[in-house]
Amino acid sequence: MEIIRAKDVTYEYSKRDEEGNEIGVNTAVNQVSLEVRQGDFIAILGHNGSGKSTLAKHINAILTPTEGTVVVDGMDTRDEEKVWQIRQTAGMVFQNPDNQIIGQIVEEDVGFGPENMGVPTKEIWERVEESLKAVGMYGYRLHSPNKLSGGQKQRVSIAGVLAMHPKCIILDEPTAMLDPNGRKEVIRAARALNDVEGITIILITHYMEEIIHADRVFVMDQGKIAMQGTPKEVFSRVEELQRLRLDVPQVTLVAYELQKRGIPLPDGILTVDELAEALAAVRAKNLESGKV
Ligand code: ADP
Ligand code: MG
Repeated sequence: MEIIRAKDVTYEYSKRDEEGNEIGVNTAVNQVSLEVRQGDFIAILGHNGSGKSTLAKHINAILTPTEGTVVVDGMDTRDEEKVWQIRQTAGMVFQNPDNQIIGQIVEEDVGFGPENMGVPTKEIWERVEESLKAVGMYGYRLHSPNKLSGGQKQRVSIAGVLAMHPKCIILDEPTAMLDPNGRKEVIRAARALNDVEGITIILITHYMEEIIHADRVFVMDQGKIAMQGTPKEVFSRVEELQRLRLDVPQVTLVAYELQKRGIPLPDGILTVDELAEALAAVRAKNLESGKV
């Protein structure tokens, strides 16, 4: 069953002059349709300004479409009475962890969402505990968020969303401000929520290696979906990705260059292990046929 159905969504920001008069529009999302099934791990790629954040904000009703419709778990995001239920269903984690943490201690911060929702106190503590455990931050429950690393802060933000028991979590470049370790921690946490809890994950990123495990990838360009498919399908279209100004992973590029030079490798190699195995297979075949 689909948890998100976006149909022909267009969103226009108004352009204004210094006096605030509208002088035109900027089409940030242009006729986008996409469907996401409950439990999917979706990745959205695209260079800066391609419309990713604008699209993401439609999924939890921060924005509503200028044209088209967005339906989240059966609720039209234009239905004002459903806004809070939609935000509870589809929680959002943003780029900068420092703007998202408000509590003085970690457990208080994570409890803030369910408290606002009117969840009974005893259940709040249960949710805080389970959410912090799910992102591997339970040991820090009594710490001050200020002293945590970027990756840890971001995991606390995720726990804060998780404590509202969402069906879907949208992460808008959650690792953009983190070091490689922090990036790994956050992606690992997101994958675990998907695998273990079956939560739908929509990950917006420009780090290619973060999307390897996605069920489906959408590439945005100038407000439109320019490519979509499994990571393997998308990564086998190396030249197209480069035209869309995306950095193709090193290992995928190496495999692509080897392929061009006549080495029979499969398309869309994404990891070093895959490349090593494919090369070993080529060598074994050559040995068999007496070529080497
Ligand atoms: P991305 O997240 O892929 O970088 P955005 O959705 O932030 O892209 O932006 C898409 C387009 O919309 C860009 O041209 C950007 O300048 C414009 N835009 C984004 N936010 C606003 C805003 N609040 N007001 C006007 N234009 C905006
Ligand atoms: Mg953005």
